[in-house]
Amino acid sequence: MESRFQIRSVKAREILDCRGNPTVEVDVMTEVGVLGRADTPAGRSRGRYEASELRDGGKRYGGLGVREAVKVVNEVISPLLIGMDVRCQRDIDYKMIEYDCTELKSKLGGNAMVATSLAVAKAAANSLSLPLYRYIGGSNSHVLPVPMFLYICGGKLAATDFDFQEFNAMPIGARTFSEAIQMGSEVYHTLGNMLKERYGKYSLNTGDEGSFSPPGVDNPEEAYEIILKAIKEEGYEGDFVLALDAAATHMYNLDTGKYRYRGKDITKEQLMEIYENLVNKYPLRSIEDPFHEDDFESFAEITRRLNIQIVGDDLFVSNMKRLAKGVEMHSANTVLLKVNQVGTLTEALDTASYAMRNSYSVLVSERSAQTEDTWLAELAVAINAGQIKNGAPTRSERVAQFNQLIRIEEELGGTSRYAGRNYRIPPLT
Ligand code: PEP
Ligand code: MG
Repeated sequence: MESRFQIRSVKAREILDCRGNPTVEVDVMTEVGVLGRADTPAGRSRGRYEASELRDGGKRYGGLGVREAVKVVNEVISPLLIGMDVRCQRDIDYKMIEYDCTELKSKLGGNAMVATSLAVAKAAANSLSLPLYRYIGGSNSHVLPVPMFLYICGGKLAATDFDFQEFNAMPIGARTFSEAIQMGSEVYHTLGNMLKERYGKYSLNTGDEGSFSPPGVDNPEEAYEIILKAIKEEGYEGDFVLALDAAATHMYNLDTGKYRYRGKDITKEQLMEIYENLVNKYPLRSIEDPFHEDDFESFAEITRRLNIQIVGDDLFVSNMKRLAKGVEMHSANTVLLKVNQVGTLTEALDTASYAMRNSYSVLVSERSAQTEDTWLAELAVAINAGQIKNGAPTRSERVAQFNQLIRIEEELGGTSRYAGRNYRIPPLT
C-alpha cells in the first residue's frame, strides 16, 4: 500500500445543520495531509427502519447534541481506521459495519458512520485529484439529474393543514441543468406572488427546505392548481411534471388502520382513490410513500394501477434487504436514496445498483436538514441517477447542491447530458 493513501487521523466535531440543530462533521486526513471532510444530514419525517442516530439527550440543544457520536468517531472509529487505505471504501465501511454489528447501527450510530464514510470517500478523491463524482462513479458519470423542486409543503415539514408532505414539480423540458434551475427559480418566485395574492401575506412563510406553507389550505388540488398556474405564467406549460411525497406513514394510525386526511379517518382504498383522481386530473407523474412503511401490498397495487413513478422512501429506507422485498413483490418502481438512512456510502451504492439491475429508478434525495456540504450533488452525478430531490430553489443548504451541479455541468461540458424527460431511466448516450 502506498503510504500517501494511508489514514493518519479521523477527527469529528459537532457543527450545526440548517435547522440549527447539531450534526456530526468528520475530517479524515491521510499520511501526507490530504483532507476529506463530510457531515451527516438529518430527517424530520424519519422511517422506523432507518439507521439510528446517536443523540445525547439531556438539556443541551434540547437533547439533540451529538457529543456522544463525536466521541464514538474519535475514540472508537478512529483507531479502527487509522492505517487503512482511503481508496478501500468497501473495506472501511465494512470495518465499521462489522464492529457495530447491530441491525440499525445503534452501537456506533448511523450519524457517526455516515460522516466518516463520506469523509473517507472525499479524502480518496482528493488524494487522486479527482472530483468526488468521478471518483465514486468512474469515467462514465455524466448525467445531470432533473431537480425535483419542493414548492409547497405540509405534513411534518411545515405548520400547514396539508396532510401530504410535499408538492413538487420537475422541469423535465429543460435542455440543460442550469436551464432547469432557472425555470425552477422563476416558478418559485411567481408562485410566491400568486400565493400572497390568493391566501394573504402569511403564505410567504416557508417551512422546511424553503418551501411555501400557505395557511388555511388543506386541499392538494389547490396546491397543484396554483403551482400549475405559476408554471403557465412563466411560459413553461408542458415542461414540468408534478410530484408528490405523501409521507403516508405519518398520516397512519396503527391502532385503527386508517389514514388521517383532511380531518377524517379514511381507509387505504379511499386514499388510493384520491391518488387516482389526482393522477387523472393533473400531470402528476411521481408519488412517494403513498402508503405506510409496512404496506408493501398497497405499494404493489398502486404501482400496478397507476402507470407512473412510485417511490419508496420510508418503505425501503435505502436498504437493500427491504428493496429486495419490494422487487419480489413489485412494490413501487423507484427507490429514494438517502445515504444516512442506511449508514454508509457502500451500502447506499449497493442499494442503487441493485435497484438499477432490477429496473427500478433511483431518486437521490436530501434530508430536510442539510448543511453546505455538497456530497449529495456529486453522488447524483456519480451514479447517473437522473433525478435529485433537494427542496426549494432557495436557502443556502439547497442552493449549495444546485450550484455544485451547475459547476459539474460546466466541467463536463459537451459530454454531459441533462436527464430531462428520461429522468427515470436516463439513456447513457
Ligand atoms: C422525505 O420524507 O422525503 C424527506 C426529505 O424528509 P426528511 O428528510 O425529514 O425525512
Ligand atoms: Mg419522503
